Formats: sequence, structure tokens, C-alpha cells
Amino acid sequence: MSEYYQIAVDGPSGSGKSTLAKGIAQKLGILYLDTGAMYRACGLKAIKSGIDTKDAEKIEKMMKDIKIDITHEDGTQHVWLDGEDVSTDIRMPEVSMAASDVSAIPCVREAMVDLQRKISEGKNVILDGRDIGSKVFPNAKYKFFLVAAAEERARRRLLELQQKGVTDTTYEEVLRDIERRDLQDSTRAASPLVKVEDAIEIDTTKIDIEQTQDLLLSYIRE
Ligand code: C5P
Repeated sequence: MSEYYQIAVDGPSGSGKSTLAKGIAQKLGILYLDTGAMYRACGLKAIKSGIDTKDAEKIEKMMKDIKIDITHEDGTQHVWLDGEDVSTDIRMPEVSMAASDVSAIPCVREAMVDLQRKISEGKNVILDGRDIGSKVFPNAKYKFFLVAAAEERARRRLLELQQKGVTDTTYEEVLRDIERRDLQDSTRAASPLVKVEDAIEIDTTKIDIEQTQDLLLSYIRE
């Protein structure tokens, strides 16, 4: 058995995974890997190249010529697409749906899963995503599955976007986007979003991030 451990945090968008995982990584002094950012970089590349994000053949070709790198500076993850830091660009609302589209294409998943395993090699790491406990690290030491009501997730996502200066979207639009992504992410054939049996489910609808963090740490320390 490996001397290193992984913590898997899966769940739908806006359930609080990334804030939680980032905080836990800081507390435990381990690496945090935001895997959604990688799919977002693939989605961004498709948009920039004018490729239909659902066209598997064209996306497959695109993937032959893509370079995604992940670096960490003071605990903050940076995503590089073909040599350019796209950490801010990948948060644009239109990139969310593009990421969901391309992430359903098997060759995209294979490349990203390989990259996630490579980055995690020889380290203790907490990863957030959709398939960490089911596919990327099925033997992860700890597995958590975060859920929250769609309306609450939309409220949080809107706040996050507004804090980043994105103001040309409404609550209704964000909610619709979340519901579309939920459906697409959980019904796709390749590694759909599922709660695996050995994952601990945490509903974050009515608890804040500190409480979620404490709850998760209490399971880890148990
Ligand atoms: O987590 P985030 O919302 O940034 O992820 C963007 C999209 O990337 C998700 O809607 C999902 O389709 C995809 N994704 C995935 N597997 C992961 C992480 C993200 O399919 N491990």
C-alpha cells in the first residue's frame, strides 16, 4: 500500500467542494487539486478554437494538441493552457457548460485522469471533482460526497461570480445552468457523477463552510 493518502471530495457544482477542499488542504498541509479547472481549460480551448464542444471527433483532434499544466503558488492553483495562465478565464460562466460538454467525451476524461494521478504521485492530496472516489482514486483513504439544494448552490455561485466582477448574469440564469450541468454530469456514459457506496454524504444546504470543514475533519480524525 502507498504511504501517501488521498481525500476525494465529489459532488455537483456549487455544493461547496472547492472552498472546503482548499481549507482542508491548508489545515492538513497537503496539496489541493481542483480537477474541474482542468476540464474547464479543455472547454476554454474548444471555445477559443471555435470548435463545437459536443463534437467528439473534433474535440479528440483538439486533445492531441493541448498542453495543460497545473502549478501552485502559496496554496493557490494556477491552470496553464498552451503556456498561458488561464486561471481567471476558465471561471467565465460560458466555460462551465463547455467544460461539462467536453468532460463527457472519453478521450478528454482519460487525459485528465492521467494528469490528476501524475500530479498526485508521491504526495498526500485532497482532490475535488465528480469522479475522484469512483474513478481517479477508488482506493482513496477518505471519500466525501457533498450535496446541497440547487437553489442554494445557485445563490452561492451567483455571489462568487459577482465577487469576481461578473455582473452580466442573473440568479435564474445561474440556476438554469446548474440544473443543466447536474443533469448532463450525472447522466453521461463516461464516469457520471455518482455517490459511491463508501463515500460519506454531507448536505451543505443549511451549514456554512466552517461547519462543513469541522464535520469533515471530525471524520478524518475519527
Ligand atoms: O467543478 P467545476 O464546476 O469547476 O467543473 C466543471 C465541469 O467539469 C463539471 O460540470 C463537470 O462536467 C466536469 N468535471 C468532471 N469531472 C471532474 C471535475 C469536473 O467531469 N472530476
